[in-house]
Amino acid sequence: MPDQESTRRTVVIGNWKMHKTGAEGVALATEIVARLRPGRAEVAVAPPFTALAPVADAIRGSSVALAAQDVFHEREGAFTGAVSAPMLAAAGCSIVLVGHSERRHVFGDGDEDIGRKALAVLDAGMRPVVCVGETLEQRDAGGAENVVRSQVGAVVAGLSETQRTRLTVAYEPVWAIGTGRTATPDTAEAMHRVIRSSLATIAGPGTAERTPILYGGSVKGDNAGAILAGANVDGLLVGGASLRADSFLTICHAAG
Ligand code: PEP
Repeated sequence: MPDQESTRRTVVIGNWKMHKTGAEGVALATEIVARLRPGRAEVAVAPPFTALAPVADAIRGSSVALAAQDVFHEREGAFTGAVSAPMLAAAGCSIVLVGHSERRHVFGDGDEDIGRKALAVLDAGMRPVVCVGETLEQRDAGGAENVVRSQVGAVVAGLSETQRTRLTVAYEPVWAIGTGRTATPDTAEAMHRVIRSSLATIAGPGTAERTPILYGGSVKGDNAGAILAGANVDGLLVGGASLRADSFLTICHAAG
């Protein structure tokens, strides 16, 4: 397998979840922009919808990108409470998370919804980050690999060759999100290899080799470097530790 730095981008995304008002988001984003050292990692922040516009203003002209945490697949219409991909693009987003574990488990998003969301994101000219990961029950039953293979396949099979060039996958074991229990670097690397091999089976070796695969699940400043050392770990999706500039910047700088 070729050297990862020569073929794949490194990405670190801070998922603020349902935290930060517009003013709080601006304060955090402004500090990140001011203190982020230039490096090879692409850094993005994903504020809640209401903070997207002010945070877009705060990061304008910097290297920090704007991401959204979710999207609805329709372009517009009678869908109360929903936000479409063209709306997110117009707000300045270039990246959108789809299939985050909290969307799957709290809001009931299924593989079919997630596939439609990924297509909507791509149609609007942005990059989807497709989140996959097994529950503790599925892992204990020996099903972790099959779960992520099937979650990846459900989305990637519906994308064209061109659309696949803009795909990012995030492996986020459900048992590690917000729990303080991180996958060991070996477990993370093993699961990333499974994801890359399923990308190769579904979409061919070119897509598999090109697609960044991020790890997420209780990443902190003191474990980021060890997880990133995996040859198939191309970046990080960070929740809790992205809510403070200090901890998020330590993680960004660990990524190079
Ligand atoms: C996440 O929200 O994607 C996440 C990984 O959260 P945490 O880092 O808090 O586990």
